[in-house]
Amino acid sequence: MWNMCTECETVQQEISLYACPVCGGILLPQYESVPINDKSQKGIWRYHASLPPVPVENRLYLGEGMTPLIPSSRLGDKLGIGELYFKYEGGNPTGSYKDRIAAMGLSWAIGQGREACIGTSSGNAGAATAAYAARADLPYHLFVLEDVTEAKLAQALVHKANVRKVKGFGNDPAIGKRVFERIFEGAAEHGWEMMITAFRFNPYAMEGVKTIAYEIYDELQGMPSHVYASAGGGGLYCGIWKGFNELNKNGRTAAAPCMVAVQSEGCSNIVRAYHAGSRDPLSGASTSQISGLQVPNPPDGRLALQIMANGGGSGIAVSDPLIWEAQRLLAEEEGIFCEPAGAASVAGLIRDCAENTGRSFDKVVCVISGNGFKDGKRLSAMTSEIAVPCLDVEQLDI
Ligand SMILES: [Zn+2]
Repeated sequence: MWNMCTECETVQQEISLYACPVCGGILLPQYESVPINDKSQKGIWRYHASLPPVPVENRLYLGEGMTPLIPSSRLGDKLGIGELYFKYEGGNPTGSYKDRIAAMGLSWAIGQGREACIGTSSGNAGAATAAYAARADLPYHLFVLEDVTEAKLAQALVHKANVRKVKGFGNDPAIGKRVFERIFEGAAEHGWEMMITAFRFNPYAMEGVKTIAYEIYDELQGMPSHVYASAGGGGLYCGIWKGFNELNKNGRTAAAPCMVAVQSEGCSNIVRAYHAGSRDPLSGASTSQISGLQVPNPPDGRLALQIMANGGGSGIAVSDPLIWEAQRLLAEEEGIFCEPAGAASVAGLIRDCAENTGRSFDKVVCVISGNGFKDGKRLSAMTSEIAVPCLDVEQLDI
């Protein structure tokens, strides 16, 4: 494995560097070997030859990865799509795709001799990292949004994370920037592993994300035509793109799919920049109510825009109500229960189908990033007005 800078293309053999020493750009790991599915291993470790090197005894495994790729039963027909699949990441052990990152990052941290880890989260990364840090017996210092959902906070707490909320984090881009800086400084000062789930901060941990692409490819026995993924910080989008791109290297497979990043209109810094032709995410506070998509200063936004500019895909913004509607449709039409951020990919597809009626959607995958139990407030909003009578046994009129 070696690293290449996404900005100046400098090659770095030193594998413990997290940022380019020449320009400060993101260093992306590169590999000699093509992705191989080693079925003697479990979860993401099936693809160990294309992951940062971790000795077998350090590989943490809690059941992450190998999540189901569920064919659509009705939604695909309604949208006029030949083949539609849902990659259900709610099936991971703590209920989101962040488990892939936590498994990779904490396993790597053990090999580096780290004595603790530190990070930020809107909720899911905190829950995932807390579980794997507990498994690795490493203390975890976590800083979360003030309005983190109760379920995500509770998950981090049960695994003994040292959690603190930060006022204004998630709404105010200046506060977000300062939080990232402080964590960066603190991690460097103490020699802790920095578990901010972004290529900008920990490209090795983020390598776990691309196993989503490998699994989709292996299950479909080929490339999909389009993949829709939500974009908060942009890491999910970039990670999946990297996986498909590695499969496609040297023309070994069909072309990588068109990757569509879906953001909430209330926090669409990447998508607005894409449409404006900007290389950097645009600024602006978040007004979105979708937990996980409230990232006004997306750390991997620039990388996502670079991918789009190089023909890797595009971006679309959808309203919060359309995301909630997609969540309801997945539950009612497909039997899939996900959190609102997980349904954003489907909301983006619905909007794309409505606006691009001539576009050909042959084989589409929507990545459903997290489980429905993650957001109790939304669950109450969906169900609290449904009357559930409580009957005496004599009243059962079946
Ligand atoms: Zn560089």
